[in-house]
Amino acid sequence: MRVLIVGGGVAGLTLAAKLACQGREPLVVEQSSCYGEHGFSVSLYPYGSAVLHGIGAYRELATRGVQMKTYEIGDRRGRVIRRIDFSRLLGAYGPTYFTTHAQLIDCLRRACGERVQLRMGSTVSALKQAGEEVEATLSDGTTERFDLVVGCDGAHSVTRELLFGPQRGFDTGWVGWTWWAPERIFPPETAREHWLAGALFGAYPAPGQTMCIIAVPRSVADPAGELDERELLARLGGALGQLASTPALAAALALASEVWPWRLRDVRSRRLSSGRVVLCGDAGAAFLPTAGVGASVALRCAAALGEELSRADARLAPLAIERYVKRIANTVWANQRDSRRLARAMSSRTL
Ligand SMILES: Cc1cc2nc3c(=O)[nH]c(=O)nc-3n(C[C@H](O)[C@H](O)[C@H](O)COP(=O)(O)OP(=O)(O)OC[C@H]3O[C@@H](n4cnc5c(N)ncnc54)[C@H](O)[C@@H]3O)c2cc1C
Repeated sequence: MRVLIVGGGVAGLTLAAKLACQGREPLVVEQSSCYGEHGFSVSLYPYGSAVLHGIGAYRELATRGVQMKTYEIGDRRGRVIRRIDFSRLLGAYGPTYFTTHAQLIDCLRRACGERVQLRMGSTVSALKQAGEEVEATLSDGTTERFDLVVGCDGAHSVTRELLFGPQRGFDTGWVGWTWWAPERIFPPETAREHWLAGALFGAYPAPGQTMCIIAVPRSVADPAGELDERELLARLGGALGQLASTPALAAALALASEVWPWRLRDVRSRRLSSGRVVLCGDAGAAFLPTAGVGASVALRCAAALGEELSRADARLAPLAIERYVKRIANTVWANQRDSRRLARAMSSRTL
């Protein structure tokens, strides 16, 4: 079966590795010319990380991840008001890990092995379904024919756009600013969040460091994009009020050198497939960060598609796609609904 995977991220590489285990040789086109280094911290629930068992990458993740043993909720004075033991909550299913997106991508690339052709700096510019094939025009102008095309190109998916045009999403109106702080500032193996009225602070572990985020309504942050990093951090700290002057927060803010914006909005494709083209991961439904499930769902969807394809040849690919969509749709929408519900609570100004 000739398979084109558009996007070599979490879903794309997982699917490619699954297909390679079946002796198939998918082509992955990835628009970046190389994978970024700075990345961000990603939580992986057992629901998602278990997929790595099936491609021989679980052990690698365990060595490159930090276990999340505790989730803490704090108040505006910096006090922890609730502590949840994650090993008790989810331990029966396996550990919950935090790693960086870059480390996860590296684990998945290794799992792909030699059978997967990863073409960096490449994308798809047109897709035409004709008979039992899809003709894809690639960014270098060449056209190639495939039995199946899978859009794994993330929240801003071009594959989705080519299939269905612009799709709706939920915009919280908030923006999160992330930066890296040293790991010792917050307790180890712990994710901490302070949900304030009109602002959120979070600290999430990653190997050797902690990713911090302050999320605020867009109008509060830097709507005109005119502030330098210090001014922006001062403004974000201001939105946290008293919390910003507690020792841990003051240290995390003082040590921030570079911050990255993240618009807190999602997208949902009204359909997940058309003929021999199918969407997987964020391309079909992207998630707000509030539930921390985007990567786990992407892994799970890629595994489900890989399993359905393991029982199909080129002729039966559309049937495998149909089964995949039936299998994952309800879970994906339910997870997205949950993350939206939490986002509404986050953006409440009346805590
Ligand atoms: C700051 C931040 C923190 C996050 N934290 C968490 C978390 O804690 N837990 C969690 O579960 N999720 C988290 N997420 C979300 C998670 O990263 C995504 O849900 C997950 O990566 C989705 O996997 P994906 O393969 O669909 O997309 P991605 O991993 O984004 O991969 C898409 C790939 O496609 C490539 N691409 C894009 N367009 C094209 C194109 N036209 N042609 C070819 N290639 C293309 C991209 O370069 C990328 O490599 C976070 C996201 C961000 C930004």
